[in-house]
Amino acid sequence: MKALLILLVALPWTLFATPKNIIVMIPDGTGHASLTAARQLKGAPLALDGCIYGLVETRSADNSVTDSAAAATAMACGKRTYNGAVGVDINRVPLRSLAEWAHEKGKAVGIVTTDAITGATPGGFSAHVPSRKNAADILEQQIASGFELFLGGGAKTLNDEHKTFMQQQGYTLVTTADALKQARGKLFGLFAPGIMTAEVARKGTPATNEPHLEEMAEKALDLLKDDPDGFFLMIEGAQVDKGNHDNDLPWATYELLAFDATVARVLAWASKHPDTLVLIVPDHETGGLTLLNEPHEGARAKALRAASGKGVGKPSDYFVHYSTTWHTGVDVFLAGNTPDCRPTRNCDIPYSIIGETTEPFQEIQGKTLQEGAVYYLETADGQRLRANRDAIYIQPTGKWYRR
Ligand SMILES: [Zn+2]
Repeated sequence: MKALLILLVALPWTLFATPKNIIVMIPDGTGHASLTAARQLKGAPLALDGCIYGLVETRSADNSVTDSAAAATAMACGKRTYNGAVGVDINRVPLRSLAEWAHEKGKAVGIVTTDAITGATPGGFSAHVPSRKNAADILEQQIASGFELFLGGGAKTLNDEHKTFMQQQGYTLVTTADALKQARGKLFGLFAPGIMTAEVARKGTPATNEPHLEEMAEKALDLLKDDPDGFFLMIEGAQVDKGNHDNDLPWATYELLAFDATVARVLAWASKHPDTLVLIVPDHETGGLTLLNEPHEGARAKALRAASGKGVGKPSDYFVHYSTTWHTGVDVFLAGNTPDCRPTRNCDIPYSIIGETTEPFQEIQGKTLQEGAVYYLETADGQRLRANRDAIYIQPTGKWYRR
């Protein structure tokens, strides 16, 4: 009996239960060459270097090169979809996300990004719309979600109706790093009109009152950690992608260093909170960045050399070349603190995290979105909360009405 007990204790926890705390970190648009460039710029190993253990295939349902919306949907909802789709399948049927699953299990949920909060990646975890362009609808659904925390940019989408709805849903709206430090309870932090100010743009200029990714992540851990059921937290470093789209190596590389510093902080936190899974995986590569030993060097690589005074772009190291301003279809790295968690396709990720293959990250309430339809959510106390164009909220306790 004693031997059996010892055996049971020694078995990996994945055989018994999903982790109490789940942290998914996404450096959007980060390929292997971006890691090399960041390591060169830092002049020391990255936090990521110590925990990469696999590769993930990134394609979408309709394209060998995914966009961030289809990628986020696959990573959050376990199903590949068409490029541009946010949390819906190829037939526009809403799919339950890992974040929604966690919330239904009683866990606290946080979404953190340096993009607009309505961006494709945070959207894939928290909304269901047929097109990533529906920013106002994505924000409305995020407010309806009941998740504990949203931090990012995107304040320009916020209208008076959204503000009223936030109040009804019990959110505090904060817009500065100083206010974030003091804030407690359910939070909406919108710190910039669109995407947040890039790290490279903050260098040598007066400080903005926007938090860095690391500060947002730290606040999220602080606020979510007290839920007795645990939490789900998605942290996106969004602007490696933006920089690589622009073929702007300094932009992308300083963003990756900021993301990597956040990885170090999160892994340190997880090491003190044992039942915490940290999974780090880009949604795709952007820019087709390559590092060459022949002169393809562009003006922006030179700018990075000037900015850093060392490393990247130095002729004796390599020359920098981008092959596209869009994404590429190459595999991305898989990293984290739980090498047993081994998805090999983006759509395997939620199943690998919860350690099951049967959990229904599938259709929600069997509803198909219809273009132009307007939906109302009626709460348990009979209040009609919102109307919404061609989209649907996920609120298991409510009833749905279509006009
Ligand atoms: Zn992109």
